[in-house]
Amino acid sequence: MPDGNRRVVVVGDSVAGVTALRELRALGHTGPVALIAADPDGCYPRPPLSKKALVDAAGDPEGWSLADLEVDVTRSAAVGLDSERRIVHTEGGHSVHYDALVLATGARARRLAPEREGEFVVRTMRDATALRERLSAASSVAVIGAGFLGLEVAGAAHRRGLPVTVVDTEPPLMRMLGPFLSEAVAARLRAASVDVVRATSPAVPSGDPIEGITVDGVDIRADVVVSCVGEVPNCEWLSGTALADPRGIAVDERCATSVPDVFAAGDVTHRRGADGTRGRNPFWSHAVAQAKVAAAGALGLEPRCAPHDDYFWTDILGAPVKIVGPLPLVGEPTRIAGSLEDASAVLEWDHEDGRRTVVAFGAKKAVGWLRRRAADAE
Ligand SMILES: Cc1cc2nc3c(=O)[nH]c(=O)nc-3n(C[C@H](O)[C@H](O)[C@H](O)COP(=O)(O)OP(=O)(O)OC[C@H]3O[C@@H](n4cnc5c(N)ncnc54)[C@H](O)[C@@H]3O)c2cc1C
Repeated sequence: MPDGNRRVVVVGDSVAGVTALRELRALGHTGPVALIAADPDGCYPRPPLSKKALVDAAGDPEGWSLADLEVDVTRSAAVGLDSERRIVHTEGGHSVHYDALVLATGARARRLAPEREGEFVVRTMRDATALRERLSAASSVAVIGAGFLGLEVAGAAHRRGLPVTVVDTEPPLMRMLGPFLSEAVAARLRAASVDVVRATSPAVPSGDPIEGITVDGVDIRADVVVSCVGEVPNCEWLSGTALADPRGIAVDERCATSVPDVFAAGDVTHRRGADGTRGRNPFWSHAVAQAKVAAAGALGLEPRCAPHDDYFWTDILGAPVKIVGPLPLVGEPTRIAGSLEDASAVLEWDHEDGRRTVVAFGAKKAVGWLRRRAADAE
C-alpha cells in the first residue's frame, strides 16, 4: 500500500501530467496530490489541434476534468526547484512542498524566427486558434517541415481549400516511415495538388513581418507561414539543478531522474536505457506509458506497465495512419494487403531482430488488432 501521507506533486497538465495524476489514484494513493500547471486554457489533448481545430472551432479539443481526483491545483508556471528542501517555486510566488515529484512539463514548438512577427506554430490551443483565424483570411499557406505535424497542418489547410506548399530537406515522413511509405505519402500529396518542395538546405521564413519563405535562395510568397520543425523540451526552469539538459530530463527505465524522489514523463524526457540506448520519443502513447511508470515510482510501487509504447497515429490528408512497432522503417514491407493508392492498406515489416511493425494506412483497423499482429511476431 502507498504511504497515505506522501505528498506527490505533478508539474505540467497535459497527457503525461494528467495520466500521472490518474495513475496515482488508480494505484490506491489516498494522500495529498498537487498539480502545478502553466497553460491558461487548462488540460486538453493536443492531437486534435492539428487535425480538426485548424479546420473549424467545433474541432477544438475538449478539456479534461480533474474533479474526481481531489487534486490541489496551482495555475502558475513552475520557475524553480529546490531539491534539497523539496520545494517547487512558481511564477505566482507559491512554494509547493513535495515528498515525491513528477515532472511533465513537455515541450514547446521550435521556432525559426522567434524575433519576427508572423511565424505560426501549433503546440497549444492558443497557437491553433491564432492560426485558424489567420487561415480564414489567407489565400496561400507555406509549411516548413514534412514530418507528421507539418503534413497534418497542410491537410487542414488543404481541407479549407487553400493552396499549400510544404518544404523540407527530406521527402515527407522519411525519417519515421522510411522510403516505401514516404513515397506513398508523397503520391497522396501529389494527387491532392499539395506542392511538396525538396530543398537542399533548410528553408527559412522571409520578411518582417513574415511574408513567405526562402528556399535555396528563392523566395516563395505565402500569406501564412507555419513552422513544424520539432520541439524544445521545457526544462530551462530547472536550471541550477542536475536536471536541466537541452536534450530533455534524463530518465531511466523507472522514469527516475538523477535527483532522489524526482521522476519525469512525456515529451520533456530524454531516455537513458540500461542497455545504453538513448533518445526522445515525443509521442502520445509513450507519454502515457512513462507517466504511469513515473506515478508508480513516486509512490515507491512496482509499475503496472513498461515505460514505452510504440503505438503512433497520424492523419495524411484525411487518411488515418496507425502504426504499432519499431520505427524508422527500412526497405520494402514484408507483406501488403489492400491498396495504398486507395488508402486502404495494411503493411507489415518483419525486422531482423524478430520484432514486427504493422501499419494501417487508411485501412480501418482497431489498435488492439494492430498490437496483436505486431506481438504475433515475437
Ligand atoms: C498539434 C499536435 C498534434 C499531435 N498529434 C499526435 C498524434 O496524432 N499522435 C501522437 O502519438 N502524438 C501526437 N502529438 C504528440 C503528443 O501530443 C505529445 O507527445 C504529448 O502531448 C506529450 O505530452 P506531455 O504531457 O509530455 O507534454 P505537453 O503536451 O507538451 O504538455 C506539457 C504541459 O506542461 C505545461 N508546462 C510547461 N512548462 C511548465 C512549467 N514551467 N510549469 C507548469 N507547467 C508547465 C504546459 O503548459 C503543458 O500543458 C501531437 C502533438 C501536437 C503538438
